[in-house]
Amino acid sequence: MRVVLLGPPGSGKGTHGKGLSAELGVPLISTGDILRQAIAEGTRLGLAAQADVKAGRLVADETVLGLIETRLGLPDAKEGFLLDGFPRTVAQADGLGTLLQSGSCHNLDHVVNLVVPVEVVVNRLRERWLCGSCGTIYNLSSKPPKVAGICDVCGSTLKQRADDEPATVRARLEVYQRR
Ligand code: ADP
Repeated sequence: MRVVLLGPPGSGKGTHGKGLSAELGVPLISTGDILRQAIAEGTRLGLAAQADVKAGRLVADETVLGLIETRLGLPDAKEGFLLDGFPRTVAQADGLGTLLQSGSCHNLDHVVNLVVPVEVVVNRLRERWLCGSCGTIYNLSSKPPKVAGICDVCGSTLKQRADDEPATVRARLEVYQRR
């Protein structure tokens, strides 16, 4: 199954994507996660993307298309995938179309668009904490951890995403609405 998840920051693409990925047996591929990992590791890609991600701006289409091409070429994505955070521009959507055709013409099965009001996503992102190790997502109101600051699943420390601070959230929402 080949699925694209669309929706503004904080709409639940990552949360629902994880559940769907387990249910469908296909990998959840998040361009945001790949970029954050590259930044943490200080790779060439990470260094190139760092300033844009920090400011909540879109990373260049060629950069994102390159990393998606590499990721979709891995064996676990052969039978399907869930894309979270990609495509985000018309050029990326066209690029995905080209990639799918070149891989012996696989069509997408579904595109799911999550629609959530702006006030709701702003509140959600303010209260979002994540596990630094296993990536489990918490919300201080709707899904708090059992022990404050500690992941229920693996016991690691929880953190907030640097780009979840309100000014950057506003920039990300603006970028999302413009595209
Ligand atoms: P969210 O959807 O919650 O804003 P993501 O984790 O999907 O967060 O993305 C975080 C940041 O990574 C974005 O603000 C942007 O800088 C960059 N990014 C992620 N996906 C893309 C993409 N498809 N094209 C360009 N930039 C991207």
